[in-house]
Amino acid sequence: METAIRQCPECGIDFSMPAWLYELYRLSGESYHCPQGHKMYTPGALEQARANAVKFERWYNGEVIAVNKLSNQISALRGVITKLKKQLDGKACGGR
Ligand SMILES: [Zn+2]
Repeated sequence: METAIRQCPECGIDFSMPAWLYELYRLSGESYHCPQGHKMYTPGALEQARANAVKFERWYNGEVIAVNKLSNQISALRGVITKLKKQLDGKACGGR
Protein backbone atom coordinates (compact mmCIF):
# COMPACT_ATOMS: atom_id res chain seq x y z
CA MET A 1 0.00 0.00 0.00
CA GLU A 2 1.26 3.47 -0.88
CA THR A 3 1.74 5.80 2.03
CA ALA A 4 1.86 9.57 2.27
CA ILE A 5 4.45 10.92 4.69
CA ARG A 6 3.56 14.18 6.36
CA GLN A 7 5.31 16.45 8.83
CA CYS A 8 3.37 18.38 11.43
CA PRO A 9 4.21 22.11 11.15
CA GLU A 10 3.62 22.57 14.87
CA CYS A 11 5.58 19.77 16.56
CA GLY A 12 7.67 18.64 13.59
CA ILE A 13 6.76 14.96 13.98
CA ASP A 14 6.85 12.81 10.82
CA PHE A 15 3.98 10.42 10.36
CA SER A 16 2.41 8.46 7.54
CA MET A 17 -1.06 7.56 6.40
CA PRO A 18 -2.39 5.61 3.44
CA ALA A 19 -2.03 7.65 0.22
CA TRP A 20 -5.74 7.23 -0.56
CA LEU A 21 -6.65 8.73 2.82
CA TYR A 22 -4.38 11.71 2.24
CA GLU A 23 -5.96 12.17 -1.20
CA LEU A 24 -9.38 12.09 0.44
CA TYR A 25 -8.34 14.88 2.86
CA ARG A 26 -6.86 16.86 -0.02
CA LEU A 27 -10.00 16.63 -2.14
CA SER A 28 -12.47 17.29 0.67
CA GLY A 29 -10.45 20.06 2.34
CA GLU A 30 -11.17 18.38 5.71
CA SER A 31 -8.64 18.74 8.50
CA TYR A 32 -6.67 15.84 9.97
CA HIS A 33 -4.43 15.51 13.02
CA CYS A 34 -0.85 14.59 13.68
CA PRO A 35 -0.26 11.85 16.32
CA GLN A 36 0.12 14.65 18.90
CA GLY A 37 -3.33 15.97 18.03
CA HIS A 38 -2.40 19.13 16.09
CA LYS A 39 -4.90 20.10 13.43
CA MET A 40 -3.52 20.08 9.89
CA TYR A 41 -4.79 20.69 6.39
CA THR A 42 -3.40 19.53 3.07
CA PRO A 43 -1.60 22.36 1.19
CA GLY A 44 -4.25 22.29 -1.52
CA ALA A 45 -7.00 22.78 1.03
CA LEU A 46 -5.32 25.88 2.41
CA GLU A 47 -4.93 27.38 -1.06
CA GLN A 48 -8.56 26.57 -1.78
CA ALA A 49 -9.64 28.27 1.43
CA ARG A 50 -7.55 31.34 0.57
CA ALA A 51 -9.00 31.46 -2.95
CA ASN A 52 -12.49 31.22 -1.48
CA ALA A 53 -11.71 34.05 0.94
CA VAL A 54 -10.52 36.28 -1.93
CA LYS A 55 -13.62 35.40 -3.95
CA PHE A 56 -15.88 36.17 -1.00
CA GLU A 57 -14.10 39.46 -0.33
CA ARG A 58 -14.60 40.53 -3.97
CA TRP A 59 -18.26 39.54 -3.87
CA TYR A 60 -18.73 41.38 -0.56
CA ASN A 61 -17.06 44.55 -1.85
CA GLY A 62 -19.26 44.39 -4.95
CA GLU A 63 -22.35 44.09 -2.77
CA VAL A 64 -21.26 47.05 -0.64
CA ILE A 65 -20.80 49.19 -3.77
CA ALA A 66 -24.23 48.12 -5.07
CA VAL A 67 -25.89 48.91 -1.73
CA ASN A 68 -24.22 52.34 -1.61
CA LYS A 69 -25.41 53.07 -5.15
CA LEU A 70 -28.96 52.07 -4.25
CA SER A 71 -28.81 54.16 -1.10
CA ASN A 72 -27.74 57.21 -3.15
CA GLN A 73 -30.54 56.59 -5.64
CA ILE A 74 -33.09 56.36 -2.82
CA SER A 75 -31.83 59.69 -1.38
CA ALA A 76 -32.09 61.31 -4.82
CA LEU A 77 -35.64 59.98 -5.27
CA ARG A 78 -36.61 61.29 -1.83
CA GLY A 79 -35.38 64.70 -2.88
CA VAL A 80 -37.44 64.56 -6.06
CA ILE A 81 -40.55 63.47 -4.14
CA THR A 82 -40.13 66.30 -1.61
CA LYS A 83 -39.71 68.82 -4.43
CA LEU A 84 -42.81 67.52 -6.25
CA LYS A 85 -44.85 67.60 -3.01
CA LYS A 86 -43.84 71.23 -2.44
CA GLN A 87 -44.81 72.13 -6.01
CA LEU A 88 -48.19 70.43 -5.58
CA ASP A 89 -48.77 72.14 -2.22
CA GLY A 90 -47.89 75.49 -3.77
CA LYS A 91 -50.42 74.92 -6.54
CA ALA A 92 -53.10 73.82 -4.09
CA CYS A 93 -52.65 76.85 -1.81
CA GLY A 94 -51.69 79.59 -4.21
CA GLY A 95 -54.12 78.19 -6.75
CA ARG A 96 -56.66 79.64 -9.01
ZN1 LIG B 1 1.87 17.97 15.75
